[in-house]
Parts: sequence; C-alpha cells; structure tokens
Amino acid sequence: MNDTYLNFVNSPFGTRVARSLGLPKPEVLRRYRAGEPEFGGLVAIGAGREPRLLDPLADFVASIGVTSVAHESAGLWMPLAHRHNLMTGRFEPADSGSPARLAALLFDASGIEDSSQLEPLYAFFHDTLRSLGKCGRIVVLGRPPEACENPRQWTAQRALEGLTRSLGKEARRGATANLVYVAEGAGHRMEATLRFFLSPRSAYVSGQVVRIAAGGPLRINADTHADTDAGINADLPSPFDWRQPLANRRALVTGAARGIGAAIASVLAEQGAHVIGIDIASARDALEATLRPLNGTALAFDIAAPEAPAQIAAALDDQGVDIVVHNAGITKDKTIAKMTHAAWQSVIDINLSAQERIDDTLLAAGILRDGGRIIGVSSIGGIAGNAGQTNYATSKAGVIGRVESMAPRLRARGISINAVAPGFIETQMTAKMPLALREAGRRMNSLAQGGQPADVAQTIAWLAHPGSAGISGQVVRVCGQSLIGA
Ligand code: NAD
Repeated sequence: MNDTYLNFVNSPFGTRVARSLGLPKPEVLRRYRAGEPEFGGLVAIGAGREPRLLDPLADFVASIGVTSVAHESAGLWMPLAHRHNLMTGRFEPADSGSPARLAALLFDASGIEDSSQLEPLYAFFHDTLRSLGKCGRIVVLGRPPEACENPRQWTAQRALEGLTRSLGKEARRGATANLVYVAEGAGHRMEATLRFFLSPRSAYVSGQVVRIAAGGPLRINADTHADTDAGINADLPSPFDWRQPLANRRALVTGAARGIGAAIASVLAEQGAHVIGIDIASARDALEATLRPLNGTALAFDIAAPEAPAQIAAALDDQGVDIVVHNAGITKDKTIAKMTHAAWQSVIDINLSAQERIDDTLLAAGILRDGGRIIGVSSIGGIAGNAGQTNYATSKAGVIGRVESMAPRLRARGISINAVAPGFIETQMTAKMPLALREAGRRMNSLAQGGQPADVAQTIAWLAHPGSAGISGQVVRVCGQSLIGA
C-alpha cells in the first residue's frame, strides 16, 4: 500500500506545505538493501558506573568498522575507553555547531545498582540526543531486573525502560530506541542483537525491551566456552559468515504466498535458508511465484485441515526443519454480538490452534531439530484488544501464551520460541480497513507511519539467527512504538 501523505510531505512542494502549516513530517525510513553498508558513521558510547558490558560492546563496535567516541561524562570508566582505543570527547548539540552527526548512541547501564546512580544517563543523552542523525539508533544495555540481587538494583535497572521508551518518543527523524537486558555471563551473546538494532533492518522496531539469557541448555556447544560476558559466542561456528547467517538451515513459513509471509520467505532465503512455503490451494500460483525465485519449495496445504500436521511432517521428514514461522492468519471482524460462530471458530483455529497442532507433531517426531527456532506472528491487537476483533485478539493473545508457556519446555532441546507482534503494516489485510481507521493506524506511533512487510520479516530473521539463542519466550513488537497497547 502507498502512504500518500508520507510521500507528499517528503516531496519538495509537500515539505514546504508541511512546514508552513506545521504538519507532522514522517521520515522516509532507511531500510536494509542488499549491497548497501549496514553500519557506518560515528557512534557515541556512554556508560554508568562499572560498566560490565563494555568489553564485548567495544569489541563489537570495532568489528563492524564504525568509529566510536566515549562520552566524557563517564569519567569513571575512561581507563576502559582508553584500553579500547575509543576516542574521547564531549558533544555539543548539533544546533550549536557540532560538526558530526551521530549514527548511534549506545549506553552501558549494566553496572548501575541504585537509583542515585542513574545520573550519567541524563548527562549522556542530554549532550548527545540532538546530535543523533537521520534514522539514528539508540540502544541501552542493562541487566534483567528480575535477576538483580537486591531491590535497589532491580529498581534502577527497571527504571531504564521508562528512559528508553521516552527517548524513542523524543528522538526525531526516524530514529529508534531499544533496551537490551543482558544477563550476567551473556555479554558474548549480544552481537546478533546489537547488529539488528543498529542496522536499517530494525527500521520499524522501537520502544522494545529484549532479554538475552546466559548459558544453560540453550547454549548448544556448552563445553566450549566459559560463562563470562566477554568471550567467544559458542552458539556460532567460527568463522561465521554474518551475511549468510541462515546458511544450511531449512525454514518453514506458513501463509507465504503474499504480504508479510512472502517477505519472510524472501528475507530468510536471502540470509541463506532453504524456505518451504505453505499456503492454501487457491493461492498456489502466488505461492509458487514467491518461492520460485528463492529456489524454495511450495506446499499447497490448508494449515487448519485435520490432516495438515501429518502432511507437513511427511513433506519435511527426510531432512527435518530448523526454523518454523507461523505467519498464516485471517481476520473475520464483527463485534461479538454480531459475530457468527463460524467466524469465531475459523479465526481461532487458523491463527492459533493449527500452530499448536503443527508444532506438537513436528516436535514429537523430532522433525524440528534441536537448536531450532519457532516464531509466531501475533499482533498488537493481541496485546491491546480491539473492538470488532474479539476472535482475532483472542487468537493473537493465545500466540503470546504459547510462546511464554513453551519456552521453558523447549529449553532442554536448545529450541527457542518467540513471537513478533506487528502494528500497522502496509499489506492487503490493512488495505481493507476503512480510510479513517487506516490513517489512525498509520500515524499513531513514534515514527508516524505504517511498517512494511520486510520490517516484520527482518525481525523474524533476527530471532531465527543462530546468534539469538539467548532470546526465548519473548514478544517483540514491530509497530514503530505504537501508542496502542503501549
Ligand atoms: P495476508 O492476508 O496478506 O496474508 C496471509 C496469508 O496467509 C495469505 O497468503 C493466506 O492465503 C494465508 N492463509 C490464510 N489462511 C491459511 C490457511 N488456513 N492455511 C494456509 N495459509 C493460509 O495477511 P498479512 O497482512 O500478510 O498478515 C500475515 C500475518 O501477520 C497474519 O498472521 C496477521 O494476523 C499478522 N498481522 C498483520 C498485520 C498487518 O498490519 N498486516 C498486523 C498484525 C499482525
């Protein structure tokens, strides 16, 4: 779908009109394009007291070839900055003549143990936020509050959520802000997540909180590395090709004929996976047209049919599967008083129960291999609820329950299960919405626009990544920090 307003206010004439009338001007977001560099520019790094993640953070920043500058307010950790050859300096706000626009602001808050120690966050973002460039990135690193030893530390770490979400709302020009809670001993597992949040792949993901767990059975090659923050990520083979992270993986994607599902198939294939796409028989032509250029496999099955789990298992049996993406979904909107029993039943069955039946079959038969990934597509409707969508919201909240309940059960097999919850995404599903509702859906978020199917697909690819083994049982919204259900 075309966002006429966004296109207009970004045209030379529209820019003048928007300025003179004081209209909001959503930024044209920078999105990932094959062949274009993902990282570049100047990154400002700040830290609170005793930053415990600075070693892996500095190593990572150096490895992607960007120049980092340590903020001078963090005097306590300057020796560390010098050890990592970070330039040190102070930032003047851009409008007071600072020469350099910053591509990203990274803050290591992992060592903060008391609310009285939050002040360096103020100093850092006060100095740097106005210098953050177009489509800039903010990432705050902390420790999972629930794992903190005492109430003061828990409180201070939990406080980071309010800061990060507010930064997402204050940042302008297509910038995003996200918080990553890294468990003690999981610092070496940050790279896939930092790459995602710093790159244009996460263009429409803002205001999110992600937790990376350490060690445990999720770590597949457990005997090969020590449980420290720094060190080698044993989830990944060495050397690791970051351009083809899903090489040699097989991925099943339901509802792959069009919309978000087609984008998921395409992104997973681009990252090296062999994609097996499923869609209903009437979408066979579109499914084949999607999968053919990806050298994928098209299967025309109705996922809700009683025989579907067995059919899918039989089709996958020989080689198994590493990644399962439950994307197929339908809406049949009516207020509950007017909703037919069939409309209720089919939405719950396709959007939720079919996933459970397919997973149970693939897991029981070992077809979904150990170390695998399951990713469900929920919706912000499942978080916030929506008038006229009791069936849909029930099914999508159920997807979240599925993820939460299955994550601990799958841990021993090294399988992670997560969900993405898209907000307003420009597809045929949202094109059917009445105009006023569609416009409201597009604008009521920090980026003041709808997302693209590729935004959801890139988020799923990050969760499917072998380097995302520490992330399980979580829901990541792809909604531009929507106000709905926030
Ligand atoms: P879409 O209608 O464009 O595509 C859905 C695909 O699923 C279609 O190809 C359809 O044929 C297929 N499908 C439906 N029932 C099926 C069945 N029984 N068996 C096999 N395939 C089946 O929808 P979309 O906008 O691309 O949405 C994809 C997913 O994202 C859905 O789960 C939807 O609920 C979710 N979502 C979308 C948005 C949005 O804004 N578009 C927002 C939140 C969540």
